[in-house]
Amino acid sequence: MTTTAGPTTAAVRRAADVPPLITAADLPPARHFIDGDFVAGSTGRVIDVVDPCTEQVVARIPEGGAEDIDRAVAAAVAAKGGWARMVPKERSEVLHAVADRVAGHGEMLSRLESANTGKPMAVSRDDVAMTVDTFRFMAGALRATTSMAAGDYAEHHLSLILREPLGVIGVVTPWNYPLLMAAWKIAPILAAGNTLVLKPSEQTPLTTLKLAELVADLLPAGVLNVVNGRGPVVGARLAEHPDVDMIALTGSVASGRAVARAAAGSLKRVHLELGGKAPVVVFEDADLAAAASSLRVAGFWNSGQECGAACRVLVHASVAEPFVEHLVREVKELIVGEPQAGEDVEVGPMVSEAHFARVTGYLERAKADGIRAAAGGQALDGPGYFVAPTVLVDVPEGAEAAREEIFGPVVTVETFTDEDEAVRRANAVPLGLSASVWTENARRSHDVAARLDFGTVWVNSHLVLAGEVPWGGFKGSGYGRDLSLYALDDYSRTKHVMHNHER
Ligand code: NAD
Repeated sequence: MTTTAGPTTAAVRRAADVPPLITAADLPPARHFIDGDFVAGSTGRVIDVVDPCTEQVVARIPEGGAEDIDRAVAAAVAAKGGWARMVPKERSEVLHAVADRVAGHGEMLSRLESANTGKPMAVSRDDVAMTVDTFRFMAGALRATTSMAAGDYAEHHLSLILREPLGVIGVVTPWNYPLLMAAWKIAPILAAGNTLVLKPSEQTPLTTLKLAELVADLLPAGVLNVVNGRGPVVGARLAEHPDVDMIALTGSVASGRAVARAAAGSLKRVHLELGGKAPVVVFEDADLAAAASSLRVAGFWNSGQECGAACRVLVHASVAEPFVEHLVREVKELIVGEPQAGEDVEVGPMVSEAHFARVTGYLERAKADGIRAAAGGQALDGPGYFVAPTVLVDVPEGAEAAREEIFGPVVTVETFTDEDEAVRRANAVPLGLSASVWTENARRSHDVAARLDFGTVWVNSHLVLAGEVPWGGFKGSGYGRDLSLYALDDYSRTKHVMHNHER
């Protein structure tokens, strides 16, 4: 395809003469949260927490070791009986109180999240709103669980199906939505009657620790524990620990494999929400302007550091040119900046120097392979880890940029010529988290959605989520579901009790 548009010259909008996003009073205790208390931990080492807009250290948190996990697991084991025995109404009230507490501190939590991740405030506020909604949904859902009717399924034998908590759940969360991904685990895990030990990403622990601080008086000691530290040490100990009944990880495919391997020794259950590489299949009859405007959000939300990001367009060759024009216009209008640089900032920095190097590495290799950037294509001036919102066009089938998860503000555009080819190529990636189809044709919208091998398929939309519907992937994106009643099922076990009542 050809387009006359040249790459963007987007600049980072800086915040001038504004007070800092957070003060020392907003920071959580720089400690682990174990058995209802903030404690120092066993190693004496610390990890720097860095603001990716300024590259300055905003906090130092203790680097945990296996001993800290062992203490936290012991606390969770001790707390599990009491929490599991609470009747649904009581547990529900606690979760509603957690939701109220988060909502009551929503603005501070949003600022804290933006200070740690560089996210635009609009994204942090959305994360906090969804966090509140996740706790409220689970608080309601836990009172309305269902199972098969009790009855005589064998002669003279009455069967009851009980739903029980699993016990202690280990949770490992990523840096892209630190508070929200914690909430997606904590809410259903507690709702189902389990206790937990959570390890936040070592890069973004602040809002998780703050959440623990905010709700410490609402939960019995040991029900929620937070241990800081690095994945291969603290996360790995959690995954292998014999007293942990299930390990749930949101993160990369490599970490998912490591966790599944570590969990195999004790045969604990594993719940994995891993990477994504969402295809956006645009047919010739689609509303091209609507698709491009939706991609402005869905491709670049959270600076593209989003597992469901609309990052890989497959567009019918006959409409590729007008579609790319719409898309490039939208992408060049995106406002890149620091969180305090205005409510209209849409794109922030990459979360860390290492991730910035990874994303710009993909752009450099694409350029070296002759792939053209119709917008962006390069890093933006520092300080901070900013990358220009990018559209790579004329991307050949199988190119690295269209195959691997870049996890940055980069959308690739490939073309196809018929429906079967579109489905085959959309499915030809090892990840299967989410996808979208853009068409006005009713048959095609059903049929293509059915043939796409992804856990969520949107039709004429992308990246719209709701607490009532499940989120999770197929293939290399892992297994297990977040949100909805399906998450409650994942964190529960069914027990069949059969009574012989023959006279
Ligand atoms: P990551 O895998 O590097 O880190 C995730 C967490 O796993 C961190 O807390 C890390 O410390 C821990 N970890 C690393 N190695 C480990 C090990 N050997 N054992 C136990 N824990 C370990 O991922 P990230 O860079 O923080 O997050 C980005 C990834 O997360 C992307 O691939 C993205 O697609 C994925 N993600 C998926 C979803 C989803 O819902 N499917 C949501 C958000 C992010």
